[in-house]
Amino acid sequence: MKVKVAKFGGSSLADAAQFRKVKAIMDADPQRIFLVPSAPGKRSYKDEKITDLLYKCQKLAAVGEHFEEIFDVIAERYIEIAHELELEIDIRKHLQIVWSKIKNGASADYAASRGEYLSGLLLADYIGFEFVDAATIVRFDENGKFDSEVTQMLVSEAIGGKKNVLVPGFYGAKPNGEIKVFPRGGSDISGAVIARGVHADVYENWTDVSGFLMADPRIVKDPKPIRIVTYSELRELAYMGATVLHEDSIFPVRQACIPINVRNTNMPEEPGTMIVPDTDGGSSGGRLTGIAGRKGFTVIAIAKDNMHNEIGFGFKVLEVLKNHGISFEHIPTGIDTMSVILAEKEMEGRRKQIVDELLLETGADSVELHDDLALIATVGRGMVRYVGTSAKLFSALADNNVNIRMIDQGSSEMNIIVGVENDEFDRAVCAIYEAFKD
Ligand code: ASP
Repeated sequence: MKVKVAKFGGSSLADAAQFRKVKAIMDADPQRIFLVPSAPGKRSYKDEKITDLLYKCQKLAAVGEHFEEIFDVIAERYIEIAHELELEIDIRKHLQIVWSKIKNGASADYAASRGEYLSGLLLADYIGFEFVDAATIVRFDENGKFDSEVTQMLVSEAIGGKKNVLVPGFYGAKPNGEIKVFPRGGSDISGAVIARGVHADVYENWTDVSGFLMADPRIVKDPKPIRIVTYSELRELAYMGATVLHEDSIFPVRQACIPINVRNTNMPEEPGTMIVPDTDGGSSGGRLTGIAGRKGFTVIAIAKDNMHNEIGFGFKVLEVLKNHGISFEHIPTGIDTMSVILAEKEMEGRRKQIVDELLLETGADSVELHDDLALIATVGRGMVRYVGTSAKLFSALADNNVNIRMIDQGSSEMNIIVGVENDEFDRAVCAIYEAFKD
């Protein structure tokens, strides 16, 4: 039997109806033996997340102001869920404890963590799982840094080999018992950490979308879903702006080679996206996995006669940038020219100064800045050592009258990056998608 850890996000647990869906999903697969819930999220566009409300209560309480009204909203939501699902648990008693701790000066981390804690108590009762407090097995060190090794040991000792266990997401504790939370959205990290600790075969991440799409749906109409993506591809796509899981939540499972399956609680019949170790992705004959991109880059164009004979020229250029704490994206070079591509905002307030320093330090003939560049990454493990991929990409752009200002192919051959005018960004993304979508 496989071991599956299922993490459910806030929208999957927003009300009693969503709790019912979660139960149906858990019941449908006996391999789902570990469950990591978030706090109830928004029920509608105008609604507020429980976590946000808890932070607000703590903020008011900390300065001696009334927070009762907001707390009532929180309490009502939990009581309503318990009532509608006819749960036996005395949730009012638990709410009362949280209320008095906040009243008596509890920390923001403690207050925020109660969203997951209370939701975990309800859900464990509803589906008949054992509740294990994350404070006992998810460890942060004295300085508040997540302690991966100790956590792995504690998780494996406490719940490894067990069945039907629920651990609330988002928080853990320092060695002295003080509650500490992960960054916002951190239940994803909790799920990953539990998956690694129990040596899961799959980490299921249940949310409100059916996985990742091949392109941004605000640009491309109805982009196809990505069925399988490798960890490396995902990193490339996320770096270039695709919204995916929190990087920290991918790390623990990636290290342990555990695949992540992103699924939709509202459409459980859909397979979602499988994020797999690089070796398991298989090739897909020239196929594209996804397209992502960002606008707002600047090119520093440097020219110097006979540059190609000068050892250390590039070093001097990068040293100027390093001294300003500036990070760059790409360095396409010609024989006597070198371009550095970086985010426009990196240059803010010091454009002239940097140009002057570059002229001075490198003795360049000219240094010019060209703005309004957008970068588009076309990513696919199927492109590796496949003849014709770039021809297809560039023809698609040419056919759509898109001028390419820069080209860079990663050494892995998994990623071709093109630079186009900001204004041509959407057209370029659509053109690439259309050329590669099948
Ligand atoms: N409830 C927390 C938040 O809103 C953590 C999470 O949902 O993942 O950030």
